[in-house]
Amino acid sequence: MRLILLGPPGAGKGTQSARIVEQHGLPQLSTGDMLRAAVAAGTPVGLKAKDVMASGGLVSDEIVVGIVADRIEEPDARGGFILDGFPRTVPQAEALDRMLAEKGIGLDAVIELKVDENALVDRIAKRVADTLARGEPVRKDDNPEAFKTRLVAYRELTAPLSEYYAKKGLLRVLDGMQPIDQVTAEIARILQPQPA
Ligand code: AMP
Repeated sequence: MRLILLGPPGAGKGTQSARIVEQHGLPQLSTGDMLRAAVAAGTPVGLKAKDVMASGGLVSDEIVVGIVADRIEEPDARGGFILDGFPRTVPQAEALDRMLAEKGIGLDAVIELKVDENALVDRIAKRVADTLARGEPVRKDDNPEAFKTRLVAYRELTAPLSEYYAKKGLLRVLDGMQPIDQVTAEIARILQPQPA
């Protein structure tokens, strides 16, 4: 199964991806996690991505498409995957379509978590508090300034993907304001094998 989780920062993509990983055994391919690892390791990609990530902007399509192209070649991704945080622009979605078409495979579903933007700021504040409570370092882009930039990037560059995937008949929209378990249950229903 090949899935995309769409939604603004703080919509719960990471939380739900982790649950899908657990329940369906699919690897979670999070471009945000991969980029943060590259920044931490000081790789050439990390050096290029560092400042733009800290400001809340988007890393170039070329970089992220390259990362995803390499990652989906790895053995654990052969049987399927969940993409979390990718694609984030129409050119990224087009590049993904080409990559999958070359392999003769396609996407099964694109699940969009719809959330009220006003609630997102509170969610991010909670994520910061939870992270601090676990004694872990807080993400550099979880501050009000960068968060605003991330929301604008979402609205302008990522939101058009809903229409892109709706036209392909792949889009499933869920109410991401529901309790976490409810969202998980709805995703599970979508992922149930359809009767032939
Ligand atoms: P995330 O963990 O998905 O919120 O991503 C954190 C940051 O990594 C984003 O704000 C971007 O700077 C960068 N990033 C992650 N995925 C992408 C992507 N698909 N395209 C461009 N930038 C990305």
